[in-house]
Amino acid sequence: TVLGQRISKSFGHLQVLRSVDFHVGQGEVVCLVGPSGSGKSTLLRCINHLEKIDGGALYVDGELVGYRRVGNKLYELGEAEVAVKRAEIGMVFQRFNLFTHMTALQNVIEAPICVQRRNRQEVVDEAKALLKRVGLEDKLASYPHQLSGGQQQRVAIARALAMKPKLMLFDEPTSALDPELVGEVLAVMRGLAADGMTMIVVTHEMRFAQEVADRVLFMDGGVIVEQGSPGQIFGAPQQERTRAFLSRLG
Ligand code: ATP
Ligand code: MG
Repeated sequence: TVLGQRISKSFGHLQVLRSVDFHVGQGEVVCLVGPSGSGKSTLLRCINHLEKIDGGALYVDGELVGYRRVGNKLYELGEAEVAVKRAEIGMVFQRFNLFTHMTALQNVIEAPICVQRRNRQEVVDEAKALLKRVGLEDKLASYPHQLSGGQQQRVAIARALAMKPKLMLFDEPTSALDPELVGEVLAVMRGLAADGMTMIVVTHEMRFAQEVADRVLFMDGGVIVEQGSPGQIFGAPQQERTRAFLSRLG
């Protein structure tokens, strides 16, 4: 579960998150939508220790992000501790950031073997099963340049899953893809959601949000303007800003 309380974040004079409150329950799929610059990526990056919040509190599974509690004192996590925490959360970005000099299989096994120090054969077996799950069992030996964008993005998802994350964050995972490749990636995400993975998905794919999200958060100007079921947000938005955003999407 993820819980944010009055989170604020600025870059210089620009306040990007303004007292954001939100929560994501175990097994819940939350889609985060909103205009460009509204703070969606920043919110995801804070959850994954890629940015530090300036105010408020952010918890993942009840633990304060970025800090360790000893008695009633809080200590900021060091780099190695942050790396451990970050490995518990899978993140998939818009741009497939695969290791270009490694095959699909090598991409997936790299971190579990090198970071988690797990048994190689066990990791290889799991990686093959994961690549099969994302429909790439015949691409184990392919390098990223030999794969389509959709296939690369599915390798990226398999790679994130190989770390056995308790939470998956997606930042516009399909927006760099040619339209005909979007469906295969969304299908994999749909499967993950159906298997009970806790997911926060920043997306412009309103149909996906409509079908898969348990809840939709609409963000604008660094605040969550409105949230509710997909039916509520897309069918009967209460706020003018939400209506304006949705009508611009057509
Ligand atoms: P998009 O839909 O275009 O991806 P977004 O909702 O993800 O937008 P963010 O990337 O969170 O928006 O950015 C929110 C604001 O913060 C923007 O005005 C952006 O320019 C600014 N910003 C983001 N990261 C930084 C940074 N590292 N330094 C300075 N400003 C930043
Ligand atoms: Mg973004």
